[in-house]
Amino acid sequence: MHAITRSGWVEVIAGCMFAGKTEELLRRLRRAEIAGQAVAVFKPATDDRYGEATVGSHNGRQWDAHVVDPEDGVAGIPEYLNGEQVVAIDEANFFPQELIGVCEGLASDGRRVIVSGTDQTFRGEPFEPLPQLLALAEYVDKLQAICSVCGEPASRTQRLVGGEPAHVDDPTILVGAEESYEARCRNCHTLRGE
Ligand SMILES: [Zn+2]
Repeated sequence: MHAITRSGWVEVIAGCMFAGKTEELLRRLRRAEIAGQAVAVFKPATDDRYGEATVGSHNGRQWDAHVVDPEDGVAGIPEYLNGEQVVAIDEANFFPQELIGVCEGLASDGRRVIVSGTDQTFRGEPFEPLPQLLALAEYVDKLQAICSVCGEPASRTQRLVGGEPAHVDDPTILVGAEESYEARCRNCHTLRGE
């Protein structure tokens, strides 16, 4: 995929939920592993869908990961590294802006940095830090899901609360709430209170 040979770089896998971002991340990590490259994987502590210390996609494949506290652990990511050439960060939308500088530093240090995350909030607005990472990255892939209403390509994440569209004033990140999510296209994505 790449032609860069003398420095590190950042590549971003973005898109809505159910677009296969983590599956694509794991595919790239598997290729690196086959080539004998050492890999380090990080994920935020708020994502506990697949157990404490693994990155997993909806199809069940998993990878051991360092779990990082988004509040105060981001700056410490480089300290976990022990010469790994490839550094992967999953669910990057749960990390603060500080992640941008960490990724830039790792790339400047000669590493391949692969970042996966949701680039829009449930409101369909830019979801930092992904938008800035998309701008700074050497390589960007934006994956689509399939709209669960109409079957068109989906770029947005629909939050549902009790089966109804979430309210526009709901918090961006909900942890442990009784909500569910669907992939939707621009036309089928809706918010209450808009
Ligand atoms: Zn649709």
